Parts: sequence; structure tokens; C-alpha cells
Amino acid sequence: MHPKNFYAPLLLLLFIASAVLVVVAQEEDAQEREEIVLTMSMYLLVDDVQNPDPELSTERTEESLLILMNGINTVWAQAGIRFDLRTIATVPVPVDVLESLRQSEFTPFMQQLATGQTLLPGLSAINAFFVHDLNGINGVAPFWASARIFFVTDRPSVFHRRVSAHEIGHILGLHHVLDDPARLMFSGTNGMELSEEEIVVARYIAQGILDRVR
Ligand SMILES: [Zn+2]
Repeated sequence: MHPKNFYAPLLLLLFIASAVLVVVAQEEDAQEREEIVLTMSMYLLVDDVQNPDPELSTERTEESLLILMNGINTVWAQAGIRFDLRTIATVPVPVDVLESLRQSEFTPFMQQLATGQTLLPGLSAINAFFVHDLNGINGVAPFWASARIFFVTDRPSVFHRRVSAHEIGHILGLHHVLDDPARLMFSGTNGMELSEEEIVVARYIAQGILDRVR
């Protein structure tokens, strides 16, 4: 038999085998992490929509929030969780309420929402509020995160996407990690890694939000 004729069927067999392996690997990936999509809204808090006081109002723009949204999704892609931006809105808030937010006091703002004095268009599963300053902290998910809201300041000491992605981690049931700065849930660093355990918990909570059981 000519060597060429001998190798041709072998090569064909190898080719088929590798194609089958690729298909199997892709199916396993899909089974492991089916994408979970949660809606998210972003609100820019200002004292006055037309003429905001830069000492009290966020300096962020709607365009910058679109970029931030992409960054958040880049971080959370490792867990197969994606956030679908539903609303970006600039929301006027009374000066005294913004003053209390600046002192990291959140109850007056929650009171505004609870009484309907401040109306938020297009609420989502997770809602983010952008404020000028929070008494020096980068971001926070107050009320034990179960309110599914978080606040972020204009000038955090770490990457913007990291602040928001970290606060979302709290909302999805994750607590601080104390021993590894590379992790998303370590406080005050640029770490963005999630452990396998964290991914499982976050997906469980996210699925619960989707199914409206939490
Ligand atoms: Zn935290």
C-alpha cells in the first residue's frame, strides 16, 4: 500500500475524533454554567437636574455608566451571571437627604423611596445609586444587602467596575474575604476573582431573585 493511501483514512479518523471532542467539551461548559440574567437599573442622584450642585450631586454621566455596566459584566462573566441594564435615570433628591447620604446615613433616602416622595422610574432586580460622596467609602450595599440596592461614590480608591461588582457580590449573598487581596470580596483592593464556592452561592441567590422566591 502506498504510504499516502495508508495515512489518509487515519487522518480522517483523527479529524472526526477531535471534532467530537470539541462538541462534547462545549456541551459540558454549557451545562455547567447556563447564563443567569438579572435586570439592573442605575440612578444618578442630584439635587437639581438642570443645575446640579457639584458638592452634592454625582458628576458621573449616563455614558460613563454604560462603560461601567460593561465592566461589571466582564467581572461577573466568570460566574455566568450577566446584568441587563434596564434604566439609566437622573433623579432629583432633596438637599438634606443628599447631605445625610454624604454622612453615610441611608435611612432618610430609604424613607423618601418608601413614601414615594422620590420616584424611581424602571426599577430592576438590582438597583444602583451613584452619589458624589459617602463619607470616604467607595461603595456600600446597606440594609444587609437584602434591599438589593447599592451606592457608589464618584471617586473610589479602586477601579470603578470593581466597586460595583463587589457591592453586587454582597447582594448575591457573599461576605468579605479576609485572606486574599486577589478576590472580589476582599475589601478595598482591585481583586476581582471569585472562588468556585462563591460562584455557586451567587448563582443560587441570583436564580432565586429570577424565580421571585427571594
Ligand atoms: Zn464589601
